Amino acid sequence: MTTHPVSPNTVLANALHHAEDVLTPRILAAPPERIVLVVGTQINGAPHIGTSLVQSLAFAMAARLRDRFGLPTEVLFSALDNAPYELTTDPTSGHRYQRAYAQALGEQALNDLVTALYQPLFTALSRRLGIPHHIETYTQQQAGEHYRRTWLRLLPASTPPAGGSPLHRHPSPPRPCPRPACGWAEKHAERTRVRLTGPESAVVSAVCLHHGPYEAAITPTAGGYLDLATLYRNLVKELALAGPQGPLHVMVKGGDWVFGSHLVDEALQAVGLARAQLPARLFCPQVVTDTGAKLSKSLIREGRAPLPGGAAPGCSTPGSGPAPSPSTPISCSPWPRPCSPTPATSSARTRPPRSVA
Ligand SMILES: [Zn+2]
Repeated sequence: MTTHPVSPNTVLANALHHAEDVLTPRILAAPPERIVLVVGTQINGAPHIGTSLVQSLAFAMAARLRDRFGLPTEVLFSALDNAPYELTTDPTSGHRYQRAYAQALGEQALNDLVTALYQPLFTALSRRLGIPHHIETYTQQQAGEHYRRTWLRLLPASTPPAGGSPLHRHPSPPRPCPRPACGWAEKHAERTRVRLTGPESAVVSAVCLHHGPYEAAITPTAGGYLDLATLYRNLVKELALAGPQGPLHVMVKGGDWVFGSHLVDEALQAVGLARAQLPARLFCPQVVTDTGAKLSKSLIREGRAPLPGGAAPGCSTPGSGPAPSPSTPISCSPWPRPCSPTPATSSARTRPPRSVA
C-alpha cells in the first residue's frame, strides 16, 4: 500500500459537477417519495478502509440528495451472513462444501459481530449527517415473503434458453442441510436440484456432506434458508426492490461490481424490466494495493496486505506471530477469537474465499 491511496480517474470526472449528478435525471424525471441508499457487505472479516469508504459514500450521498432535492433519504445496510465461514472437500465426491456464517455462528453471535464491527461507524455517520439507517442481515432478507416469492417467480426464467447468460450458471441455491448443528451445503451446487411444484412453490433436493440426500419445500413463507450465488442474489434483490411506486433504491457498490452489474442488468431486462426500471447504482472507487489488487478482507487475513500495528482483523495478524501454515487447519474467523489450531475434524478448514459483496 502506498501511504496516499489513489484511485484511477474516470471519464465522468470531466462530465459531472457532482457525484449525485449520476442520479439527477432519474430523480427529476420521476421524483420519488424518498430515497434509500442500499449498501451490502459480506461480514467475513473486519471492515477495512475500502469497506468503510463504500459505506461512507452511501451516507454522504444520502445527505447530498436530501439537501439538493429536499427528499427524505436513509441508508439500508445489508449484512451478508451467507459468506462462507468454512470450506471443505467431500473426500468421496470431491465436491466442495461450505458452511456459512449464518449456520456456523447463529443469530446472536451474528448480531454481536455486526454490532461490534459495523454499528459504530453507522452510528457516527447517522449522527454526523442526520441520516437514519437500518441494518438487515441476509438471514432476515431471504426470509422475507416478497424476496422468496420473487425468486420463485424467477425460477422458470432461470433455465435454458432464457437462462443462457453466465448469470444463470448456478441458478440452484446451495441450500444448507437443515439438520440441527449441520448447515453444510455444496458450494457449487453440483447435486443440488430445484423443481417447481406450483406457481409459488418449489422443492430443493441436495446431498449433505454428513447426512446424505435431503429435500426441502420452498414457499414464500417457509422452507428454510435460501442461499443464492452472488450475481443471482443481486438479481433477486434488485428485482424485488423494483417497482413503479415507492422509494427509489440506489445500490451503492465498490468499483469491482461495474462489470457484474452489466450482467445483472441484462438478466433484469430478460425477465421483463424496461431500461428505465433498472436500479440506480453508484460505484465507489476501489482502494487497491501497490500491485493493483483490490484491498479485501481476505487479502488482509492472508497477510498479503500490510496492516498498521494493532489493526489486525482477529486472525493471522501479520507481524504478530507466526502465520499458520496453509496446510494447517486454522480457526480463521473475523470474529475476535484466538487464532489457534482447531480440534481435529473430518474436514480441513480452509480460508474463506474473497469478499464478493
Ligand atoms: Zn447435514
